[in-house]
Amino acid sequence: MAQAQRICILGATGSIGESTLDVIASHPEAFEVYAMSAFSQVEKLVALSIKHQPKVLVLPHAAARQQFIALWPSNQPLPEIRLGAEALVDTAIDTAVDTVVCAIVGSAGLASAFAAAQAGKRILLANKEALVASGQLFMEAVKQSGAQLLPIDSEHNAIFQCMTRPIQASQIKEIILTASGGPFRDTDLSLLDRVTPAQACKHPNWSMGRKISVDSATMLNKGLEVIEAKWLFDMPLEKIKVVVHPESIVHSMVHYVDGSILAQLGHSDMRIPISYALAYPERLTNQAPDFELSDLCQLNFRLPDLARYPCLDLAYQAMNAGQQSTIVLNAANEIAVAAFLDQRIRFTDIARLIALMLEQNWSSAVDSIDAVHALDHEVRHQATARLMQFSA
Ligand code: NAD
Ligand code: MG
Repeated sequence: MAQAQRICILGATGSIGESTLDVIASHPEAFEVYAMSAFSQVEKLVALSIKHQPKVLVLPHAAARQQFIALWPSNQPLPEIRLGAEALVDTAIDTAVDTVVCAIVGSAGLASAFAAAQAGKRILLANKEALVASGQLFMEAVKQSGAQLLPIDSEHNAIFQCMTRPIQASQIKEIILTASGGPFRDTDLSLLDRVTPAQACKHPNWSMGRKISVDSATMLNKGLEVIEAKWLFDMPLEKIKVVVHPESIVHSMVHYVDGSILAQLGHSDMRIPISYALAYPERLTNQAPDFELSDLCQLNFRLPDLARYPCLDLAYQAMNAGQQSTIVLNAANEIAVAAFLDQRIRFTDIARLIALMLEQNWSSAVDSIDAVHALDHEVRHQATARLMQFSA
């Protein structure tokens, strides 16, 4: 029997992390959880570690390690515990690791994902922010090292599945990303400045972490995904379309020059794209509910209204302006979303803060990953200072 794939899950306690562990648990012969990381939910990491028995854990600091040890059953061998952001990088490139699942949220996941790319790992990428902030450098690192990059973002996973191999760009007319439209797709526009974090996080079709849920409500998530698709599939921006598809059954499509459109359909359950990426090029069973075509009533599609979703427009503007602007877009959004979730700004201020940040002149060139981090840091600093202009 082939040796089990040894997996490192960065962001194991999150929504993607848990879905990944759920798929892995059904196939112990194929996968071994070698390492897991967590940032704040130490108690949850203890429970996951008891179940999945990793050899290595990554925690943010000594206090989290103390908390972990205090909760760990004394009759079980303690996993090796590594600490801090550097340990995330070291673990991503650990020679014992075959596959790195990049499931940390935000640009906090960039350094470890980039290190995995440089080290030639098999990478299951959920952390779209890494590609938004460093697309060109990231794809160059993948190419140079021979890393295998497999998208688990559902839209990109769908496109990956619908692309006939070898991929010939000239045969593709466009790729079409579907978007649910989020919880406010039919809300009166005049009410949007009063919506609460709880309403924004209540996604109609998907269950996800809080940051990406807010991104789905503003549709900045789709903007990040357009940028992600550009880098992953080496597509010019004008060949990437977005349609609102409220049912979230068609996860995305590839439209070929002969008029054929290939689509991937299924439930809104991340275990499906995760299974595909884990097993690629094979297929795996998983615990996602069975899909019955007879349950399907209607599939609707419409173009997004940019007055409702100004963040989508800002993402296109940033992408057209270049890599520096997509770093600004992403960093400003992370600050804005955190402030909205803390009820320090309004929902509609998210787009306003991003627009303010995109209007500024940012001088540094972004020709290295250190430069990406430096600009990300600077934008966060300035965006945080600007928060004072807004009030909840
Ligand atoms: P989540 O908030 O549920 O989990 C985030 C994980 O990142 C947690 O394990 C947390 O401990 C860790 N983390 C947070 N801040 C950190 C930091 N500063 N340093 C190290 N670790 C940190 O998020 P999620 O919904 O699982 O999303 C994770 C990533 O996957 C995001 O980039 C998101 O855009 C992408 N994604 C998620 C979904 C989904 O269905 N949830 C779908 C597609 C893509
Ligand atoms: Mg997605």
